[in-house]
Amino acid sequence: VRALEKQFEGKGGMFGKKRAVRAVDDISFDVGRGETVGLVGESGCGKTTVGRLVLHLLEPSGGEVRFNGQNLQTLDAGVLRSMRQHMQIIFQDPLGALNPRMSVGELIMEPLVIHGVGDAVARQKRLSQLLGQVGLATYHAARFPHEFSGGQRQRICIARALALNPSFIVCDEAASALDVSIQAQILNLLQDLKHELGLTYLFISHDLGVIRHISDRVAVMYLGKIVEIGTKHEIFDTPQHPYTVALLRSAPSRNRGKTRYAAIKGDLPNPANPPSGCRFHTRCPIAQPICKQQEPPLAETAAGQRAACHFPGTLAP
Ligand code: SF4
Repeated sequence: VRALEKQFEGKGGMFGKKRAVRAVDDISFDVGRGETVGLVGESGCGKTTVGRLVLHLLEPSGGEVRFNGQNLQTLDAGVLRSMRQHMQIIFQDPLGALNPRMSVGELIMEPLVIHGVGDAVARQKRLSQLLGQVGLATYHAARFPHEFSGGQRQRICIARALALNPSFIVCDEAASALDVSIQAQILNLLQDLKHELGLTYLFISHDLGVIRHISDRVAVMYLGKIVEIGTKHEIFDTPQHPYTVALLRSAPSRNRGKTRYAAIKGDLPNPANPPSGCRFHTRCPIAQPICKQQEPPLAETAAGQRAACHFPGTLAP
């Protein structure tokens, strides 16, 4: 992903004047084959938009996405369609993602039918295999989505996403709507499938615990920008950016005992009118005058990590 941008037309204000919202602003990162890259940030930071841009479900306003070396923006519709077989998405709301009038078998086989893969016999065989891979019994194929629990419905969505043998999956808050114990089962299933099938994930979540559990590398987003990126251990053990530190301090932890969580000061600024300079300066506990004036680039810090801050590594996690 290089210099990716997405602007949306904002709503008209008091005088009807529309303002463009830069939901994603000059974002670059790589996802290596077999890797899980976690994308984390508060809601409204643009991480879901990044997921859709990466799959070309949304047209970017600028920049490019290359998949296996091919620029998705320059491919013609037919090539892009066949490329899509290799790139899938799992959404947060499994009920909303599943057509209630279709049986589970029809839902899982639908991508095979759309892409003309196999005959009826081969599809039935693939259906049984997919149900087994996600831990559902074959007889479930005749039932309908409303007959299942949230966790089972997410398993159905995962089976559907796997139907075309993708190599890359965007998991957009894929476990966020579930109870904690079910969430753990779904995360473990995704981990197992990754190893079994050699999958690569872009894992989007607001939940640091989930990101820590599943990611190899982590990108932290704030107001449409990546403010820090590094290995899981760099981000969680030696964070460089004050926003990453603030996120970690505000997250629940088993080891925290009776210490209270420190909520991040202030509200997320209006993305249609982001603060000047460093976008985090309105909430940063160590902001200096330069922070208001100059936007810090995402650059290597003295600790050898990458963060967009004039004073990286100042705050302890
Ligand atoms: Fe805080 Fe300044 Fe760093 Fe922004 S650049 S995170 S305001 S210290």
